[in-house]
Amino acid sequence: MESILVLTHADESGSALSRGSLEAVSAGKQLAARLNVSLTIGVVAQGAASAASALAGTGAKLLGVSGEAFAQARYASDAAACETLCRAANATIVLAPESSRFARVMAGVARRVGGFIDTHIAAIGGAEAVEVTRWFYRQRIEAVLTRAARPWFLLLDAGTCMPFAGAEGEAQVETIAIELPALRTQVTGFRAPKQDEQTIRPGAELLFVAGAGWTKKQPDGQTHAAEAGDLILNFLRASGASLGSSKSLVDQGGDGQPVLPFLTHLNQVGQTGSTPRHPKGLATCCHGEEPHVVGWRFIGERRAISLDPNCGWTRGKADVVYVADAFQVMAKVNELLNPSS
Ligand SMILES: Cc1cc2nc3c(=O)[nH]c(=O)nc-3n(C[C@H](O)[C@H](O)[C@H](O)COP(=O)(O)OP(=O)(O)OC[C@H]3O[C@@H](n4cnc5c(N)ncnc54)[C@H](O)[C@@H]3O)c2cc1C
Repeated sequence: MESILVLTHADESGSALSRGSLEAVSAGKQLAARLNVSLTIGVVAQGAASAASALAGTGAKLLGVSGEAFAQARYASDAAACETLCRAANATIVLAPESSRFARVMAGVARRVGGFIDTHIAAIGGAEAVEVTRWFYRQRIEAVLTRAARPWFLLLDAGTCMPFAGAEGEAQVETIAIELPALRTQVTGFRAPKQDEQTIRPGAELLFVAGAGWTKKQPDGQTHAAEAGDLILNFLRASGASLGSSKSLVDQGGDGQPVLPFLTHLNQVGQTGSTPRHPKGLATCCHGEEPHVVGWRFIGERRAISLDPNCGWTRGKADVVYVADAFQVMAKVNELLNPSS
């Protein structure tokens, strides 16, 4: 009979679980209910009991490792923590979020406990056996995997499950004693772009895609790249949306055409770009050609603003298309979002 362990960790605040961890908890609850087996949740945090307050209503057995060492992500301490929790729970299936913190330690942890690992899991299903799916070859081939070997570690891609949302309360967390190895690495601080400069936001509700039309000649015969940049950045600031781009727009720097300086190839969505997951997407000044739209596979509700009534979006690739000038539409949207400015 299977037994399931979900490994979780705290977010940057240190006092709550990360969103990815709560998504893994949802996946674990669903799997345990379907197989009618027990569920254990392991928490890695400086203060596991307080970080676990969101888990009070899960009905799962809660195990935690606590201490100053777990306030920061570090291979030696995180791997030791996960290994200790795995040995304490003795589970056959271990679920964990594919966060940067856990992705780098989990293969090592699986090796230490004699297990096997599969990564980038997008769904867990199966009638009798446990079957998991993941995408290969730039999201074109979906594979269904099973394994007889146990323990089986599964790293879950972000955004594939709703995060667990139960009533907060005092969680009964059993503290597991841990013997830490010598810690050679000290995290002395973080260097990250300012929130304003960070345009790729995987957790955002909305993906805002900028296409090459933003820097093309407009009806007045001129290009308006600076105005386009301001409109896009003001919208991102006001809405918290994540910024995607078409390939044509990010390639333009190399072609000597007007560019939007805050865009890089990391923003590119599509066949040779990324395949982000967001509940909603809005494409602007983008034609909606197939190599771009394949990157929208995991976008829930799709809308587009294009001057071209014959663009790809109008041919069944978007739910709603506004045949309009995106400069005018986004100026109006920004005005509504920021009435004072
Ligand atoms: C092998 C291969 C891989 C590729 N991979 C990718 C990929 O990963 N991602 C990707 O995006 N593309 C990819 N492409 C390129 C793709 O086929 C298209 O060329 C590209 O997506 C076009 O970008 P675009 O729609 O922004 O530009 P355009 O085709 O130039 O379209 C611009 C649109 O903006 C509209 N417009 C202009 N001004 C305004 C305005 N004021 N208001 C509203 N609309 C306006 C125009 O009407 C036009 O429809 C790939 C191509 C190949 C061959």
